[in-house]
Amino acid sequence: MRRLTLEEWEQKYVAAPIERFDQKYVMFSRPIWDETIKELMRWATERSPSRQKPGYTLQDQALRIAARTGTMMYLFESDRPNPSRIARDLAEVLTPERLARNVRVSLPPADEKLEINDRAKLTRDVKNAAIYFGADAVGICKLDPRWVYSHSYGLGDGEHNPQEVPEEFTHAIVMAYYEEYAMLRYSPTYIADAETSLGYSRMAITNAYVAKFIKVLGHKAMSCSTNDVAITIPMAMQAGIGDIGRHGMVIAPRLGAGIRLSKVLTSLPLIPDAPIDFGVTEFCETCKVCAERCPSQAIPHGERTAEARNLSNAPGGLKWPVDAEKCIRQWARQGKPCTICISVCPFTKPDTAFHRLVRWLVDHVRGADRLYTKMDKLLGYEKLRDPADFWDAWEPQPTTRPRVKIRKR
Ligand code: SF4
Ligand code: SF4
Repeated sequence: MRRLTLEEWEQKYVAAPIERFDQKYVMFSRPIWDETIKELMRWATERSPSRQKPGYTLQDQALRIAARTGTMMYLFESDRPNPSRIARDLAEVLTPERLARNVRVSLPPADEKLEINDRAKLTRDVKNAAIYFGADAVGICKLDPRWVYSHSYGLGDGEHNPQEVPEEFTHAIVMAYYEEYAMLRYSPTYIADAETSLGYSRMAITNAYVAKFIKVLGHKAMSCSTNDVAITIPMAMQAGIGDIGRHGMVIAPRLGAGIRLSKVLTSLPLIPDAPIDFGVTEFCETCKVCAERCPSQAIPHGERTAEARNLSNAPGGLKWPVDAEKCIRQWARQGKPCTICISVCPFTKPDTAFHRLVRWLVDHVRGADRLYTKMDKLLGYEKLRDPADFWDAWEPQPTTRPRVKIRKR
């Protein structure tokens, strides 16, 4: 794995000047103002009857809808430049004093602020706290204003306002959450979507913990779970979490493509990580499994480009721009998200010794990408699982490893 300077990263991924993107054009904002998309996203807000089909039963839906519950923490994110209306209303009634009374926790000390003498130790401690609170990987980048949306767009009511992040927020803590491969292989059913949903719930809660930790230290923190306030993918790349794949998702060296991302913006002067190169771009140039298997043919088969394919692509970055309109049409046909591209990606694997070895080979023996893809297909990894026996075969495991190690000194 090679660490890149920001200049090298820029040369590899930025082909044209980047204009700040308006959140109004993000696919999930469009149902509010774009009639063509409104119809296609009805499944997301209306009741969806269960079916007598494995993977789509009431019990499968229950797993998925319950797993989303934690995302409601997003509604408490009131520190961003344009908090949602619900966040503003909640902030009025849920004062710190009321919260402390109800959950029996002390209020933070008044007028105390952590003095920063050692940035390296501070960075280590913040990263450790992020892992302790639930992230599976964490990286730091300076906040690059190009990724901050020019305007915010309220998903609930379409409030559309110019957006500026105050200058004191100089850094971002970017976190990744692993999604279990065993669950993702049930794509595109509700079973796989339960895992995606759990990723969103975990990120919302972990984000809240990390932001609170920094605020109690007397410094600034802005929790941005999901993809709010700024575009997370280039930030995750700059923070060394991983590299972008043909399917438009970040692929992390140990966690693969089945990850969800969040970030907390902060005033803490943390030490940034370096972007990384571990062979993803070259691998994707020959692999194309996601493009072949995408049911809506939304993923390009050709070369990377900096041009947008439609309103929802941010132009300027060199990538394989996924056609989000085609993708969302597929979600409408299914009445739910799809994620087949993530599930079939050869990088989406459990973190076993065998898969670590294959990843090492992909990184260090770069000429053989065609062979690796062929092997992946031959070993049957491209095949998705039949959900018929899911509930009988399902054995979620309790955490048996200690969650915390204390090093001997
Ligand atoms: S989520 Fe499904 S439809 Fe969308 S790009 Fe991936 S494979 Fe294609
Ligand atoms: S499936 Fe293949 S081409 Fe697509 S992102 Fe994964 S490695 Fe790249």
